Amino acid sequence: TRANFGLGTWPARRARITPERTALVEGGRALTYRDLADRTARLAGHLAAHGVGPGDRVAYLGVNAAATFETFFATWLLGAVAVPLNFRLSGPEIRSMLDDSGAAVLVHSPDADALLDSAAPLPDSLRLRIPVADIDAAVAAGPGLAGPPPVDLDDPAVLLYTSGTTGRPKAAVLSHGNLTWNTVNQLAHIDIRPDERALCISPLFHATGLGQITLPVFFKGGSVEPVAKFDAGAILGRIEEARITSFSAVPTMLQMMCEHPRWAEADLGSLTGVVYGGSPVRERVARAWLDRGVRLQQGYGMTEASPGVYMAPAAGAADHPVAVGVPHFFTDVAMLRDGRPAEPEGIPGELLVRGPHVFSGYWNRPEESAASFVDGWFRTGDLLTVAADGWASVTDRVKDMIISGGENVYPAEVEAVLLQLDGIANAAVVGVPDPRWGEVGAAYLQPREGAVLDEAAVRAHLAANLARFKIPKYVVFVTELPANATGKIRRVELRARAAAELADVEGTP
Ligand code: ATP
Ligand code: MG
Repeated sequence: TRANFGLGTWPARRARITPERTALVEGGRALTYRDLADRTARLAGHLAAHGVGPGDRVAYLGVNAAATFETFFATWLLGAVAVPLNFRLSGPEIRSMLDDSGAAVLVHSPDADALLDSAAPLPDSLRLRIPVADIDAAVAAGPGLAGPPPVDLDDPAVLLYTSGTTGRPKAAVLSHGNLTWNTVNQLAHIDIRPDERALCISPLFHATGLGQITLPVFFKGGSVEPVAKFDAGAILGRIEEARITSFSAVPTMLQMMCEHPRWAEADLGSLTGVVYGGSPVRERVARAWLDRGVRLQQGYGMTEASPGVYMAPAAGAADHPVAVGVPHFFTDVAMLRDGRPAEPEGIPGELLVRGPHVFSGYWNRPEESAASFVDGWFRTGDLLTVAADGWASVTDRVKDMIISGGENVYPAEVEAVLLQLDGIANAAVVGVPDPRWGEVGAAYLQPREGAVLDEAAVRAHLAANLARFKIPKYVVFVTELPANATGKIRRVELRARAAAELADVEGTP
């Protein structure tokens, strides 16, 4: 018989070592590893009885819940492929992802009902719909699996859609091996222990939710408590109440928590580690957490890498609050500058990545898949800068870089300067076509509530801190910036808006 070392076997493997330990916590309920192994095998049996087999796609639409993990593990046990969907998208977007992935099954939680209605008509490929509320019944009725089918580590485990920051989301095909190697990498960098009590805050339809600590915690036999909805105050309370030891988050979440009225008196004493990543962090946010004595580690990665590529070693974080540290254990990196291999020497270069955790292509997109690799290396599209001490920082995305009068301007650098101003809650700088300079910057600023801020003050601050060519030609105040579920600014949208409302077609000098 062929082997199955796939992700679906993790609950049973873990149950051999620590059957009585808690794997999942939800509401008042705790599932042990034995429970999880038993329930996922039964759910897999139920799916198999409905004809679900190796390679079939099983979509999940809903908030983070114990059912999300049960669905994933059952799917993986069968050699089928999980397709986590973003419940913040619109009906037509969900329909097109169900269509694109060719999902045969859709598991959905009650909060997604209205969204599903607006996604109608659902594609014909969808044979079975399972409301989360029916999972208990399916588990009870499930015949169980006689023996799990063979699964190869190279078999696809997840179709994970990218965030869609630079265009339409693409589904990265992540194999069982990709996610397993990412787990090993994370564990080499972060100290996850068997008695870990982790919150799963980041949504499971993004790579950080699944890969950054959740799978590593299951691997080590700790417990995971899924969080349905991010609420900064509630999470601070839960950390205290449940003596939570770790969680993974995106920078916006860390910011909302350290700016919350509860922050000052919140007891964070149980926390042994917090990891985060996904977009740039503000220095004062990282400092706020470090100052509370929290062991804080920033990761850098992307959906295509399952997701970890770099991580800050905990010991150096206080000296490098916004840097992403060093590459993961089983990760090779290289750099391209002006399209040629380059040494990392203090100036930004495009990062190339290679490793057993890096995907092999996008689903249904042969051209984009081919274009994303060069000589076996994945082109991240990100510019990183490596300091003399070997610690890397994310400079910006290649696509976001503005070339103004022949000079490279990195919006992230300009934004960081803008955000030093107390009155600014959020800032985004995008390039706009300009007849004289080729491109110029446009700064979109969201003032903090009640802040008194005018363009002159902003310009004075910019002039005092940045070279002239980096200073945006346009400054626009807005009430809100377009952002996705994890707080990333949707720059495609902003660029289109800037081109439409600001681009200087007259060529005024
Ligand atoms: P799309 O690929 O669809 O345009 P996306 O790249 O935002 O969207 P993800 O895979 O979720 O989708 O995000 C990965 C990207 O997020 C990285 O390529 C990088 O640009 C950014 N990123 C990740 N971690 C960090 C970090 N620590 N600091 C700054 N940027 C980060
Ligand atoms: Mg990307």
